[in-house]
Amino acid sequence: MRRILEMLCKSEYMSGEDMSRELGMTRAAVWKKIEALRLEGWNIESAGKRGYHLDAGDHIDPVLWEHILKTEILGRQTNFYAYSLDSTNRQVKQMAMEGCAGGSLALCEEQTAGKGRLGRKWVSGPGVGLWHSLLLRPDLKPAQAPLVTFACACAMALALEKQGITGVRIKWPNDLILSGKKICGILNEVSCDMDQIEYLVLGVGLNVRKGSVPEELNDRAGCLEDFCLPPRRRDILADYLLEMETIMRQLELDGFEGMEKIYRDRSCTLGSRVRVIGSETFEGTAKDMDETGALLVEDEEGIVRRVLAGDVSVRGVMGYV
Ligand code: ATP
Repeated sequence: MRRILEMLCKSEYMSGEDMSRELGMTRAAVWKKIEALRLEGWNIESAGKRGYHLDAGDHIDPVLWEHILKTEILGRQTNFYAYSLDSTNRQVKQMAMEGCAGGSLALCEEQTAGKGRLGRKWVSGPGVGLWHSLLLRPDLKPAQAPLVTFACACAMALALEKQGITGVRIKWPNDLILSGKKICGILNEVSCDMDQIEYLVLGVGLNVRKGSVPEELNDRAGCLEDFCLPPRRRDILADYLLEMETIMRQLELDGFEGMEKIYRDRSCTLGSRVRVIGSETFEGTAKDMDETGALLVEDEEGIVRRVLAGDVSVRGVMGYV
């Protein structure tokens, strides 16, 4: 049945005759398989002599995007798709422990226990977001792991720009913001030995359609559909994987420097007044970042404090951003 879907993805129309020839089965057998796919929920139209046409809508099953990928590694290993998962990060961690290659990923329509940073929850309703996690086995030192979060934020911002969505900003360290609202969160979980990253799981929750934002967060969170006609999720994913692959290569070669300009140009934190919420809470001005990605915040006494991603939340003084 997967072969049939692959064929339908590659051409607008595919006749029953061509399919039966390519698959080496009778036309009646092809028809039966098409019926079975329809029962699974695939919208396959029969257009007389022209043949069958698949209207895939906004589906994200890998069969629909594997052939449009322009990457070499990311998305070209094990792609795990399920309608419902507890957490894509949990799924990818399991895949990592089972030995899946870097570049493997998991994605789903809904997460029942989506995870955010610092043990928080990421709400991930059915069909309204791009909920996925990527397995990376980068050639980086453990101390460089937070930089992968920046790489991810840059890659997703560039992918959205490629899809015509302008004005995406990055709130240090890991949130994407559009018109002052959080549209995307990133969760980077690392497994290291003494001097090398063993693997890294990079979860991304992108709010695409209305219904993705929990009501109680309406004042500070949004989705793409609040601002535009959202692109298809699989097109965003394909662009994101390509951008991510390029930025990760630069990161492995040049460290933060390789993506610094992309990050800085989109930062809504640098230069702003911020409140740093952690074991100690204080206010100040986000002056700069160092080469490890730490935020340098000048507090009220004029002391520059080095703030590490992972330990704290950073908010605007006047509101969320
Ligand atoms: P914050 O935005 O509070 O600084 P964070 O960056 O520390 O969050 P994340 O892991 O990005 O942490 O996100 C977790 C938080 O995001 C949750 O505590 C919740 O407030 C919020 N959240 C949960 N689900 C969504 C969603 N679908 N869209 C936007 N925000 C969400």
